[in-house]
Amino acid sequence: SPRHITNEYTKLFKKEDVKDWELLNQEIKYFSENPETVPLIINGKEILNRETKKIINPSNIKQNLGDYCQANEQDVQDAIKASLEAKKIWANMPFADRSAIFLKASELISTKYRYKMLAATMLGQGKNVFQGEIDCIGELIDFFRFNVKYASELYRSQPIESTTGVWNRTEYRPLEGFVYAVTPFNFTAIAGGLIGAPALMGNTVVWKPSDSSILSNYLLYKILKEAGMPDGVINFVPGNPVKISEIVLNDKNFSALHFTGSTKVFSSIWTKIAENVGKGIYRDFPRIVGETGGKNFHLIDKTANLENAVFNTIRGAFEFQGQKCSATSRVYVSESIYDQFKELLVKTADSIQPTNCSENLQGFMGPVIHEASFDKVTNAIKSIENDNELTLLSGGKFDKSEGYFIKPTIVETSNIDHSFMKTEFFGPLLTVFKYKDSEIDNILEKIDKSTGYALTGSIFSTDRVNIRKYEEKLRYSAGNFYINDKSTGAVVGQQSFGGSRLSGTNDKAGSAALITRFVSVRSVKENF
Ligand code: GLU
Repeated sequence: SPRHITNEYTKLFKKEDVKDWELLNQEIKYFSENPETVPLIINGKEILNRETKKIINPSNIKQNLGDYCQANEQDVQDAIKASLEAKKIWANMPFADRSAIFLKASELISTKYRYKMLAATMLGQGKNVFQGEIDCIGELIDFFRFNVKYASELYRSQPIESTTGVWNRTEYRPLEGFVYAVTPFNFTAIAGGLIGAPALMGNTVVWKPSDSSILSNYLLYKILKEAGMPDGVINFVPGNPVKISEIVLNDKNFSALHFTGSTKVFSSIWTKIAENVGKGIYRDFPRIVGETGGKNFHLIDKTANLENAVFNTIRGAFEFQGQKCSATSRVYVSESIYDQFKELLVKTADSIQPTNCSENLQGFMGPVIHEASFDKVTNAIKSIENDNELTLLSGGKFDKSEGYFIKPTIVETSNIDHSFMKTEFFGPLLTVFKYKDSEIDNILEKIDKSTGYALTGSIFSTDRVNIRKYEEKLRYSAGNFYINDKSTGAVVGQQSFGGSRLSGTNDKAGSAALITRFVSVRSVKENF
């Protein structure tokens, strides 16, 4: 059974692990001193003579980390062709051989490439070492190993009856065309999961990585190749997302989308697919698997353990710079404990200073990912002053002269329906609301109905009757529902991840259910 690497890694990188720090520093230095041009990779071939864009370190925007190539229309066509060609071998390769590649890659990531992967994620995505360990080592490996485990169980178990003279069987065929994976900047692990799950099941992939995680994503590709991934199974095509999607989605052989990103982009891709289904472009009805936005809540009632609620709210809102789909961003607190909660929350947030975590390796918090994200969050912060329904409690400071740094910011609102309680900012901006205990039913209704999202949410209470009531009333408000814990931090194999409503198709990353979306079952009956 696979080990839960994510859990293990949260204990590493203690101050005394001097060797680890030295090795990490060497890799950080290496990237800084050797800026490279990241190619496109189609059918295993690196293509370099294309238009390029700069790779930006969000903690140090003047640093030269190199640049990356942009796929043109022909490249995307070639990537599709390569994926269909590679499929002829890959789809018929025994499962044991396909899984061996992912298991070997997992080993390489946690040993030979551990520090390089960490450095790439820290420099390219602005993470600190703790966030890096959880993401590009722990969770990435967990996705690979657990998917192998789930798939082995699927192939092995045949939960069907055969009667006398009949042999029934279930064949888990890969999908007939290719899979299009559109992956986000915030987790290298998610990119690995989005390309890895379909590939493990015998599919081939056209991979459009995020512009803001190129360093770690390119390294991930190279590790998979070193682990034995045949050419053409995964084709790495960074570039303009709208143009790439247009070409991919118009292809007859497009058979599945595996997506993590914004609700808006997901909706537009879905619309395009629907139009094309209407035009009869595809062979199949494509599988659509997507995880999108969230406006994740904490409900803290008067019986809650105060310190636990504060600690988890700080972690849920500000770890990973608030750049998790699952990040806590609206908090409803009982009037009975509000003042104490606020005092402790603000005191803790005030003590956090964002920093360049590749230089200050013990830093708690880095920058947001890019200028657009910085502008979105800071424009919201600027609006607080002139809004009489909002009061700034902590933070509100920002500076982009060196990197995209924003102090953890906490706002109090007197209006439960304020846009700050509904908008996903995807950054370190948290809004809190004080509720009257007598109005709890209305609060539960608001939590459930006011945003349209349903990704994650937490309740904090020590009263079992209340816990049952909240759990029932908020049944569809979150795909990941936590009791006395933060709204973030799902662990593969323990809490599968995803939400419904505007938050996605809820196919649950890190679960056995997900991999079944990437097979097309054939039922075979044989008389003998
Ligand atoms: N799985 C992560 C968590 O539970 C969040 C992933 C995401 O941001 O999409 O916190």
